[in-house]
Amino acid sequence: MTKRDVLVALQALVPNRYVGLLAGAALAVSMRRGASIGLEHPMLRFADGPVLPASAFGPSAHAVASFVGLMAFWAIVAGALAVAAPALAPRGPYEPLRQRVRQRVRQWPARLGVGGRRRALAVAGAAVVAGGWTLFQTTIAADFETAEAQLAWRADYERAYARLDGAPEPRPVALAATVDLRPEAQEADVAGTLRVVNRAAVPIDTVWVTVRRDLDLGALTLDGVAPARSDARFGMHAFARALAPGDTAALAFRVGVRSRGWSADGGDRSVVGDGTYLTSMRVVPEVGYLSSYEVEDARERRRLGLPPKSEAPPEPAPVATVMTLDLTVSTAPGQTPVAPGDLRQSWTEDGRPHARFVTEAPVTPVFGIASARYERHAVEHEGVTVEVYAHPDHGANVPRMLHAATTSLDVLGAAWGPYPHPTLRIAEVPAGWRFAAFAFPGLIAFTEDRGFLTDPSDADRLDLISRRVAHEVAHQWWGHTARPTGGPGDVFLVETMAKYGEQKVIRALHGEGQVARLVAYDRDRYAWGRAEAAGPEPPLAAVVDQPHLYYGKGAVVMNGLHGLLGEGTLDQALASLMRTDRRISPDDWREAIRAAAPPEARALVDDWTRRVVLYELAVERATVVPRADGRFDVSVALHAARTEGGRSLPLHEVLEVGLYDADPTGGSAPLAVHAVRVRTGSTVAQIVSDVRPAFVAVDPFVRRVDVDPSDQVAPSGRERRRSTPCA
Ligand SMILES: [Zn+2]
Repeated sequence: MTKRDVLVALQALVPNRYVGLLAGAALAVSMRRGASIGLEHPMLRFADGPVLPASAFGPSAHAVASFVGLMAFWAIVAGALAVAAPALAPRGPYEPLRQRVRQRVRQWPARLGVGGRRRALAVAGAAVVAGGWTLFQTTIAADFETAEAQLAWRADYERAYARLDGAPEPRPVALAATVDLRPEAQEADVAGTLRVVNRAAVPIDTVWVTVRRDLDLGALTLDGVAPARSDARFGMHAFARALAPGDTAALAFRVGVRSRGWSADGGDRSVVGDGTYLTSMRVVPEVGYLSSYEVEDARERRRLGLPPKSEAPPEPAPVATVMTLDLTVSTAPGQTPVAPGDLRQSWTEDGRPHARFVTEAPVTPVFGIASARYERHAVEHEGVTVEVYAHPDHGANVPRMLHAATTSLDVLGAAWGPYPHPTLRIAEVPAGWRFAAFAFPGLIAFTEDRGFLTDPSDADRLDLISRRVAHEVAHQWWGHTARPTGGPGDVFLVETMAKYGEQKVIRALHGEGQVARLVAYDRDRYAWGRAEAAGPEPPLAAVVDQPHLYYGKGAVVMNGLHGLLGEGTLDQALASLMRTDRRISPDDWREAIRAAAPPEARALVDDWTRRVVLYELAVERATVVPRADGRFDVSVALHAARTEGGRSLPLHEVLEVGLYDADPTGGSAPLAVHAVRVRTGSTVAQIVSDVRPAFVAVDPFVRRVDVDPSDQVAPSGRERRRSTPCA
């Protein structure tokens, strides 16, 4: 309705009908795509407001206030234009707009009369007040900042403080904090003490602390002393506290999370009426310089006059930063607070539920806190309490999640060492977060739409819920036990190994056939990502931020190593990397895997992770001849090649050939799988089979990275070529 009014008004104001139509189209584009063409402020995008996500937890109060406020403002704008347009519309011979306005405005007072003038004045006054209030809420109250201003802020931060990067700084070892959530007000107060210790071999004379600038900072002291200087623009605080090697100090802080003004994107959704999900990264002060604030994009850095980021990995800290947690969380009546660690005590005070969570063993210094009107589902499993906290109406997938979680604990624990916590919690968080799930030590945040509301009833589809649970549980080892040094390849150690964990759990739950389908999906992800990626592809063990490599290609490579080394040997090698005394690097991984691999497989370990090697595998022809003994002679003509950057590499490997009674592209499982030694070019394999196969496929379990260019257009076409009906 309001949009139509504005389009009519545009037609009235613009001298030419077609220009008016064009202006209308531009307006429509600005409504949804305005931010991407530089119209970032909500008052520049007609009738734009937060999209309230479909969620059983309901929208946040901030999103509702923003939506109602912005829509009311735009309704007034549309109404004012609707009134003004008829008065300004061209009548009779053409006059330019400016002349029209001047003339009509001069005529108005007489036409309106005294009462009309008063009414017009009142309407104009209301419009000014509404506009002013909207401007205040969207700009000052909301701390509005354009993307360009944010970039400038990041660049200035780096210019001012990059000198601190790499300087010795104390490390956090223990956090004790109370987190008081007030979901109804979208507020939280966090007060705590972070104990830090100088682990460096040299004394530290100044301790720098960063507090996120969107927090209300109530108090900040180090051993009871306020900062010697503070830089409010960047939230940087310097304490003149000398710490000799081994010295500890207590950083006490009090910060508040507040809902601010109105925003077109719905604003911060950490603390909401129902379905709070607040992370430590959001509220806990950090020691030292934060390189995560830096501008990453190379072109933007050049434009802002920043030096190019060095390719060299940062000097790795030999010991990972870990700390113990002692968290007391309180929340609104009717809600359940969830945090990582042992639940020591829970009680109600002033009607508000309180709970104290303690981690005995030091953990990766990140945690999440959730609070909602949850229903708790739990099983005791081999000494671990496995819990799922879900919306009361979202119980359908919970049994599957619990089963996947306990299977993951069994399978991954047997492979890589015991699960390190007494509890494993899965907490549902509202739809709209940009991840499917996120793993903290002992706690997994799992989104409503991508876990709890997924329909798993279609038996033909991949078991994505179990796969996601397995992936996040695998991070309890990869990321939270084995911790990477940081730098190129750290996502290989964290994400690719978690992908391998998925495969292990899906194999235990559903068998090898589902693993093959899972890996085929990951291979296609690599094929698509590779087609779109810019620049040369880095080796897998040096990957930085390309998900199609560390998820997609990595899954195929790990499945290949599983075939090459055998599951037991591979897992033993991986278990040797679960070190708490130091961080691990891709070189450590290589050393462990190569030491476990048979000599002839060692070169392949390097080919797959330190070079960029592709395979081309095809079944050219397959024939079946019945034998006198009732069995069948199957002759398979294979074509195989390996390339690196377009250059041919020799190939001499044992590959698998699967025999099928139906087209395997339909998802059927092989009748039998035979190992065949294959060389570059053509190989004819002679197989004696107990059953008569209708189809033959090379590499049926997707253990080699084979990206035929035609795959990228129609994956099933390549499958057909790779599996040939038997003559
Ligand atoms: Zn992951």
